[in-house]
Amino acid sequence: MEKTNEFSSFAETVASLGTLTKLESAVSAAIKNSKVPPKETRKFLKCMSIQEASNTALFQFMRQLFDKIGMGQLQLIRNDIFRYDFAIDDSPVHKLYPHIRGKKTCYITAESFASFFSKDLGLPGTAEEVACKNSGDSRCEFAISLQPLAVYQLALDEDDKAIINGIMDGYNTTKIADSLGMAEEETLYRMNILKKYKILDDGYNMTEIGETYQKYGEGMGGEEEDFMPPWKDMAEISNAISASTSFAEAFTETANGEPIWDVEEKDIVNLADEAKKSMSFAELLSKQIKSDDTED
Ligand SMILES: [Zn+2]
Repeated sequence: MEKTNEFSSFAETVASLGTLTKLESAVSAAIKNSKVPPKETRKFLKCMSIQEASNTALFQFMRQLFDKIGMGQLQLIRNDIFRYDFAIDDSPVHKLYPHIRGKKTCYITAESFASFFSKDLGLPGTAEEVACKNSGDSRCEFAISLQPLAVYQLALDEDDKAIINGIMDGYNTTKIADSLGMAEEETLYRMNILKKYKILDDGYNMTEIGETYQKYGEGMGGEEEDFMPPWKDMAEISNAISASTSFAEAFTETANGEPIWDVEEKDIVNLADEAKKSMSFAELLSKQIKSDDTED
């Protein structure tokens, strides 16, 4: 009876490694085909509330993309200027580790967030799983911390810079609005975003951060790329994901089709070795879990 359990747990290990390999291919295909135009990312960054950010085309796309990859349904749960948190209620990734308890396991999801933000949005940073169903939390949660300079570069546009210059020159809101040919309401709305970004204080005066930005931000940005947002062609992205996972899928099918009782211990070792050599998410993940082990 005990032996059967060991085998069934090994079968699960093989299946999980197969699924991880597949996920990894899906992630890289998805990221490669999903570059987002800066102006769309800017809309997301400028949102004042979680609700508003959740309604942007970018977030809607992100939710579709992560679901298509096989990571579950994303929810945005925090939107600070340099920190964005996401939750996944019943993540398929956490289920790949049915025997792990008391540890966070969804490293591949965290890595995918980091890749998406840095490669598709142009916002480098780090991503970490901060709550996990496998460690006893009610859902998996991920925290993405972004490099501030990159955020400032992307979030503020030419009009924002003009408003900052107007404030530096001592203009009031009406005068700034007039000089920009902008409605006073929109000017004020933008000034509130500048407040959120700590460029302006509560009295709409420049902060130290604002002055630093004004001093060094002039040369930032320059010509901005504009192109079709990736959500205009979701079908193409889906095809790329399917094509890239077909090899991984073949591997998974072979692994599942093999009679379990023919598998010898040396094959387990070989499989683990392969995973190590491949520099894959699976490898990173097993390392992560190992290092958690040694800490305990
Ligand atoms: Zn998790």
